[in-house]
Amino acid sequence: MSPLDRTAIGLLLLPVPAVLAILVGTDALAAGPAAIGALSALGGIALGVARLRGRLAEARQIESLNEAELHEEFVRQSRLAESYEMILDAIPEPLLVLRRDRRVLHANRAIVDLLGHDPIDADLTAAIRHPEVIAATAAVLAGQVEARTIEFQRGGAIEQSLVARLVGLPKGRTDGPAAVLVLHDLTLIRKAMEMRADFVANVSHELRTPLTAIVGMIETLRGPAKKDAEARERFLAMMEEQGSRMTRLVGDLLSLSQIQANEHTRPTDSVRIQDILPTVARMLEPHAEKKKVAFAIEADSDLPAVLGDADQLQQAFQNLMHNAVKYGRDGSVIRVVARREGGDGIAVSVIDQGEGIPEQHLPRLTERFYRVDKARSRSLGGTGLGLAIVKHIVTRHQGRLAIESEIGVGSTFTVSLPVKREGIARD
Ligand code: ADP
Repeated sequence: MSPLDRTAIGLLLLPVPAVLAILVGTDALAAGPAAIGALSALGGIALGVARLRGRLAEARQIESLNEAELHEEFVRQSRLAESYEMILDAIPEPLLVLRRDRRVLHANRAIVDLLGHDPIDADLTAAIRHPEVIAATAAVLAGQVEARTIEFQRGGAIEQSLVARLVGLPKGRTDGPAAVLVLHDLTLIRKAMEMRADFVANVSHELRTPLTAIVGMIETLRGPAKKDAEARERFLAMMEEQGSRMTRLVGDLLSLSQIQANEHTRPTDSVRIQDILPTVARMLEPHAEKKKVAFAIEADSDLPAVLGDADQLQQAFQNLMHNAVKYGRDGSVIRVVARREGGDGIAVSVIDQGEGIPEQHLPRLTERFYRVDKARSRSLGGTGLGLAIVKHIVTRHQGRLAIESEIGVGSTFTVSLPVKREGIARD
């Protein structure tokens, strides 16, 4: 190694100002062209070194700055990811975030609950296998469409009607989020729509039957029976009966809709059931007399009052006691027993001695228009809405309706109601 090289390396190790000071302070300038050449070479090296040192220092500075920033950025990103996860979990709709290769990047709590497992990192088919959803996902992931909505059924213990809404995300990292799939459960809405359609069909049918009969009788009275006084009387009586039937039906429908309209407001009156029961028995006397049945009311006079709506409770017991008359055995006794139940409730049982109700019908009796024997119910003037009304009234009172029946022995309808507690609002 030449002394010049050694100098150059020595200079390399010195800071730039020191190199310049040495160069300026030497008498190399006076040493002739060789010395000048060496000096210029040294100067060039020194300047290069200075630039390099500058860059290195800058890099070190940036590097150290980046470290601090990186740490901050890392903390910020983790917090952000945590918040995103929390937000996604708080969304009540089942939701999946998909990667471009269709694998699940994130599954929120609702979809994990729905599926019963966490499909994270698995292919979409681990969560949803429906071919239309898979095809729609492929189209969204390929960027062919921005969004797709697919309605599909999901089998299982209970079949669900679901809507999958897929939205593509702007292209980013290959393993980053590429699409979001949100499910909406339409099962209850579909069921409610079906029930409404059934209800409208039932009401129309119930009204059409008496209307058709009335129109038919009017035609007969105008035509073949025009001059038949006896037939006229008979037909008019039948028309009156059909008219009353429609009036009863419309009355029950109105009651039902009124009860349902305020089902969520709690009644506030103090009602003594032991006063209501004899009133209802008196109102039903004409019907009871026809069937030669008698009411036996057994109610403790010190029965506590219930928090209720007196008119609605009267209607509920009227429906139950009227049914006992309609479906009870001729000449039998209908017992109505009111007693305390538990610490803070009373139970009222209407016990008849009818034919009883086959067990398979019991869970459906409170459905609107459900009858065990349609023809029999109609011939007895029933609308098929009595027990539905009872059930809604009892629900509004935060009570329970229990039905027990034994074929050949009779049926017992028990209404349990909470007692009014002084000064304490029931929740
Ligand atoms: P309906 O107007 O037909 O009496 P409800 O809603 O009151 O309508 O009752 C529904 C059905 O439940 C009746 O059609 C009848 O089949 C059955 N049912 C109700 N109460 C009794 C009872 N006490 N004994 C036997 N069957 C009853």
